Amino acid sequence: NCAPDVPTFKLNNGKEMPAIALGTYLGFDQNGIVKPQDKQVVKVVEHAIDVGYRHFDTASVYSTEEQLGEGVRNKIEEGKVIREDLFITTKLWNTHHKREQVAEALRESLKQLSLNYVDLYLMHWPIGLNEDYSNSDVDFMETWRGLEDMQRLGLAKSIGLSNFNQEQLERVIKECSIKPAVLQIEVHPQIIQSDLVSYAQSQGIVVMGYSPFGSLVSRFGVPPGSGPSIDDPTLVEIAKKHGKTTPQVVLRWLVDRDIVPVPKTVNLKRLEENIDIFDFKLDKDEIEKINKYDKQIRYTLPSFWQNHPYYPFEKIENPLPNPFEKKA
Ligand code: NDP
Repeated sequence: NCAPDVPTFKLNNGKEMPAIALGTYLGFDQNGIVKPQDKQVVKVVEHAIDVGYRHFDTASVYSTEEQLGEGVRNKIEEGKVIREDLFITTKLWNTHHKREQVAEALRESLKQLSLNYVDLYLMHWPIGLNEDYSNSDVDFMETWRGLEDMQRLGLAKSIGLSNFNQEQLERVIKECSIKPAVLQIEVHPQIIQSDLVSYAQSQGIVVMGYSPFGSLVSRFGVPPGSGPSIDDPTLVEIAKKHGKTTPQVVLRWLVDRDIVPVPKTVNLKRLEENIDIFDFKLDKDEIEKINKYDKQIRYTLPSFWQNHPYYPFEKIENPLPNPFEKKA
């Protein structure tokens, strides 16, 4: 097959991380987090491995760990890849922030994935919650100690953070025993995150950018017209110059800023499109043009948690209703 060669980024512990990850979060609808249909994600993961993806992003809260694990297992059994070729990232959910709960949660994720280690374990949010989804007062530094335990045990080869702001990241760097290897945050043309990306990178922390398409693709939580669309003239002009599509240009804009994009698709054609970004490069002017779309708009804004002491984002006037409360 014609699988492209995906470059890697070196993490601060010497491990290599492939420069693009396939997202496996299926989004949100009125019923909560969307669950995969029968074998849906298994098939996507198998095809993804065939076309060159080696890095997969999931989380215990996504309900896709099991199918990701099955797809991976099938491809290993088939002899297409070996475990060491793959980089699997999953995340600790907010209801397991006590130090001893971290091991419990990771062991459950590993069981779902049928793996004996993950390559990267991220704290999904700095926000700790009790089982009933009320605020817990567990300090995220306690949780970080739990993640450090996981790396020492070899259950996670690397550990990192997601949705931390700069101040919170600075605190972890100051008080940790093992420095975070990765920070995963929302990055797309509507929120370019210059300051946080520069800070993390200056600390030797690799940034992963989630929801990389931003407003290009309208979907639940991203109303049409909220930012540049897939046929935005400036993006189309850049895309034409390189013989690429606008989604490819946006993914490349992340890679050219040394950020690992985490695009999600369940469409086999778009899987191939999204990884076909390693044979061109944007120049400085093109990167600048895309940077100009920055409006600091977040599409992942869990304002229903904004009364939590560790809520990482700016507060808004009318917080959204808490979709997780139904689950409690
Ligand atoms: P994305 O920016 O990846 O957008 C996904 C949407 O774009 C889907 O509707 C998909 O539809 C569509 N799409 C994908 N490729 C193309 C293409 N080439 N052309 C047109 N449309 C396309 O956003 P997500 O919010 O899904 O984030 C991606 C991943 O990031 C998640 O899966 C998850 O792994 C991670 N994430 C992490 C978070 C965190 O808190 N750490 C929060 C949110 C996301 P289709 O599937 O039909 O192709």
